[in-house]
This record gives sequence, C-alpha cells and structure tokens, in this order.
Amino acid sequence: MEVKSNKEYNPQMHSAEHILNQTMIRMFNCERSFSNHIEKKKSKCDYHFNHALTEDEINEIESRVNRIIEKDMLVIEEFYSREEADNSFNLSKLPEDAGNNVRIIKIGDYDVCPCSGVHISHTKEIGSFKIISTNFNNGILRIRFKLNENQ
Ligand SMILES: [Zn+2]
Repeated sequence: MEVKSNKEYNPQMHSAEHILNQTMIRMFNCERSFSNHIEKKKSKCDYHFNHALTEDEINEIESRVNRIIEKDMLVIEEFYSREEADNSFNLSKLPEDAGNNVRIIKIGDYDVCPCSGVHISHTKEIGSFKIISTNFNNGILRIRFKLNENQ
C-alpha cells in the first residue's frame, strides 16, 4: 500500500490525530474528521458536527487525549484482507482502490483505524496535546491543536 507523503513527516501529530478522532467519536458519537491538515507546529481537523464546543467540552477532550498519551499505549500495525477488515472495522473512509491487503493501525485498546500513514510506536512519544482554538460554522467543527514534545 502506498504511504501518503503528506502524513510522513510528523508521526507524533498524525498519531495524535488518531487519538483525537477516537475521542470525538466516544464523546459525541460523531465520525472521524473528514478533512485535516497535519503539520509539526500545529494541525487542524474538521468534523461534521452539531454545536460549538463549550469550554468544558474542550477541556474534556484535552484531558482524555492526554490520558491516552500518558498511558503510553502501544501503536501497532496489522494487515487484514479486505473482507476481514470490512467485517471487523468501519472502513467507510477506505478508498475503493486501497487493494485487498488493508493496513490497520491500533492504538492500545483505544483506537482502530485503517491508515497508510507513519506513526509513533508508543503514545508517550506524542508529548502533550493542547487545543489552540475551535470554531463551529455551518455544521462543521474545526479543532486546531498543537503538541508539546517531551524531549
Ligand atoms: Zn494514521
């Protein structure tokens, strides 16, 4: 499977995006971000959503993401046939031409997602997660975030 070059250069940020997406699913029953821009300094994720986030919700998202990072969960890749993956995971975002060998990224027992990007191997490598700002417009929630690296 082809590795997307735009996701290659910051595995910390990109892995944080996985955890943020799963946190949004668990808190709000929404879908993973439909659009994102991942960079070393700051990143943004857009969600189809139904309200502006409150201060409490923003704090809750941050603390949940940081709790997962602090647990230092293992990030692993597994390969499944298309059929196995379709039966076991939500592959709505997987392109039809992704082939029959599907790469699944698991973050501990927290998140499972088909992905061809590059990831860290333990969540503590992400550092700490901070939401810079959010805004809600026309059914779209944008979350901007940054990381403070541990090293
Ligand atoms: Zn990924």
